Amino acid sequence: MQAANVQLLAQLCHPGDFLSAKIRTSLVRETLQCVVSCQACRQLQAQKPSPETAWDTIFAAPHSFHEPDACYGLGVVVHALANTQNLLKEDWYHKAVEHVWATLQKLNEVPPEAKDTAQERLYRMTEFIACVALAVGHRTFYRALGKEPILDQPPMPSPRAYSNNGAPMFKSAEEVSSRLGKKEGCGWGPCLTPGLKLANGELLADCFTWQLRPQVPTSKWTPALSTGVAFFDWGSSHYVPINRGQFVLNNLWQKAPGRTLHRADLEHVAKGYTGAIACSY
Ligand SMILES: [Zn+2]
Repeated sequence: MQAANVQLLAQLCHPGDFLSAKIRTSLVRETLQCVVSCQACRQLQAQKPSPETAWDTIFAAPHSFHEPDACYGLGVVVHALANTQNLLKEDWYHKAVEHVWATLQKLNEVPPEAKDTAQERLYRMTEFIACVALAVGHRTFYRALGKEPILDQPPMPSPRAYSNNGAPMFKSAEEVSSRLGKKEGCGWGPCLTPGLKLANGELLADCFTWQLRPQVPTSKWTPALSTGVAFFDWGSSHYVPINRGQFVLNNLWQKAPGRTLHRADLEHVAKGYTGAIACSY
């Protein structure tokens, strides 16, 4: 588990599909620092702003940021996702999408190939949320084990030097969406068609076409391609018997080698843990 956690943390800080290593590392570092600890976020939980005022209220709150320039101007979205997700409704997400897009443009993080379309914005927002959500899970996992502060355990990967300066793998959503198809009849959600490869030649469609069917909740991972793969890799260690997105029903009552819990046990633990966290916030 420890090895899988370290690997996931490192992958979150790698260049993503549409976000650079610089941005992803900053999001992860800010998330690890701010989860539960930001007093302004705690105050927001007590204040409970209405859905209509959530964006303005959360934006104006005196958050404690840890990364440079308030996480390059993205910190308020990180804090909201990490600490006040229960207060976020559709209106907040629309405004967050616009804020993230405008900030990335200002930071010269949007290549000219990415046209000013909703698709480009939503792909980047999805990857943003995926990075923060996984970092929250990572932070909470170690907190649950009593590892506080956890930044030393496991070690935080430092931003690396990349041959392409940490640029994202794709320049535009069009590169990816030309390979997405719509499936009717069981809800809507984009599904990858076979053949899409990452820059390293890894075939993405193998693990996505099955697990990310439109009716499956995790289908919302689809636009966060490589981050989704990292998530499933991590899940194959923590959440048996998922193996790269391949859930085998017959294994529901079987224990993986070296484990004392089978899948059904894990579901019970997850339910109890989620309930405990929700009650104690
Ligand atoms: Zn905050």
